[in-house]
Amino acid sequence: THDIHIIGGGLAGSEAAWQMAEAGYRVRLSEMRGVEGTPAHKTDDLAELVCSNSFRSDDAESNAVGLLHAELRQMGSLIMACADKHRVPAGSALAVDRDGFSAAVTSAVAGHERIELVRERVDGLPQGPAIIATGPLTASALAQSILAETGEEQLAFFDALAPIVHRDTIDMDVAWFQSRWNKGEGKDYINCPMNKDEYLAFIDALLAGEKTAFKDWEADTPYFDGCMPIEVMAERGVDTLRHGPMKPVGLDDPRTGRWPYAVVQLRQDNALGTLWNIVGFQTKLKHAEQVRVFRTIPGLEKAEFARLGGLHRNTFINSPRLLDGELRLKSAPNIRFAGQITGCEGYIESAAVGLLASRFAAAELAGRTMPRPPVETALGALHNHITGGAEAETFQPMNVNFGLMPPLTGIGRTKKADRKLLYTARAREKLAGWLESAA
Ligand code: FAD
Repeated sequence: THDIHIIGGGLAGSEAAWQMAEAGYRVRLSEMRGVEGTPAHKTDDLAELVCSNSFRSDDAESNAVGLLHAELRQMGSLIMACADKHRVPAGSALAVDRDGFSAAVTSAVAGHERIELVRERVDGLPQGPAIIATGPLTASALAQSILAETGEEQLAFFDALAPIVHRDTIDMDVAWFQSRWNKGEGKDYINCPMNKDEYLAFIDALLAGEKTAFKDWEADTPYFDGCMPIEVMAERGVDTLRHGPMKPVGLDDPRTGRWPYAVVQLRQDNALGTLWNIVGFQTKLKHAEQVRVFRTIPGLEKAEFARLGGLHRNTFINSPRLLDGELRLKSAPNIRFAGQITGCEGYIESAAVGLLASRFAAAELAGRTMPRPPVETALGALHNHITGGAEAETFQPMNVNFGLMPPLTGIGRTKKADRKLLYTARAREKLAGWLESAA
């Protein structure tokens, strides 16, 4: 017998299982590896790192990921404790010995007296309290059960990630607000104009840029509509993009009063209006190439990117539509979701949502309601993004970043470096208050 069933022993599920057990609850943790593998995992260890061995920046003063590390440490995260213990030198980043790290998580979880680790594949949704943390490679029978419960049409996608730009790094002396043919609110799009020479140079740069290759197991996942990489469109002909996502019709450059030769459009990406995605710009260009090529777009010369573009297979639900503020499925509130399947992106983000889901679940089992983490914290910003801050229509996976937090007010022309310090100072204060109220 158990109090909660956790499915998936990855970054999120391992953290959640440990937290529930430490809170005094009996956990059944189902992990299919050992019985059945995934296309990306290579071992049977819990919390295996499928690719890089880095948890990214560990700078808690001026980086949102580093801040998330600090918040998780403060909350007693198992994933952070094991990462710290198996740290390898990597400058200001937190990189780990992957085998030592996963072995440490496995022994802590499997050895816990209140956790029963079962090597099994789960195909249906549990009836009792549960957390689903089956990640980007969720086995297909369970994915089908989730589809049936939620009424969604698909769950395994090519993540078509378009780059996201911090709004305050767009040069609005060059770019302008306008919807095509002046439809909508007028502030729905930011437009960056190109003349013919700029457009042709841009197409050349796209074609010449270095791309990343698809993994074997991604090769048979079809492109869905509106999901073709821009460089593939550019290969089809010099005017394909100008007739597609870079269409200039109905957009009057206020500096000339005319339609430019081509236009790059950005669309608001979060409710705060701090992040804007480049419409239709999903790409397999390498990250450094994206920064170089996209900064040639007029108005984006100084753009800072909250996330770069990408295209890889993923499994995630439309969390803003399907989950409530406590990460419960609205249609079946006994079930919570955690990890990459909620539409967060990254190892540490997945672990963070695992920790949060378990805190909500533990509070519920104790007959309490836990207040939600403040949106000014890294944890709260991520939580807010997946439970309503993001637009459901265009929901895409997201790394933690300062753009998910409410902008600072009354800081005038504070330098960018100093602004980051203000973000993290505010977050620390808010986290302390929340931890006190959530205790
Ligand atoms: P996972 O860690 O994948 O854990 C899910 C677990 O559920 C797995 O162990 C799986 O075996 C199990 N499972 C699935 N279905 C079932 C079922 N039906 N029954 C029982 N068990 C089941 N993020 C980074 O930060 N850096 C990277 O370099 C990086 N590279 C990535 C490379 C690839 C190829 C992919 C797919 C993702 C990558 N990510 C990366 C994104 C993400 O951070 C990781 O996928 C991360 O492991 C997600 O954590 P999770 O706990 O949500 O899922």
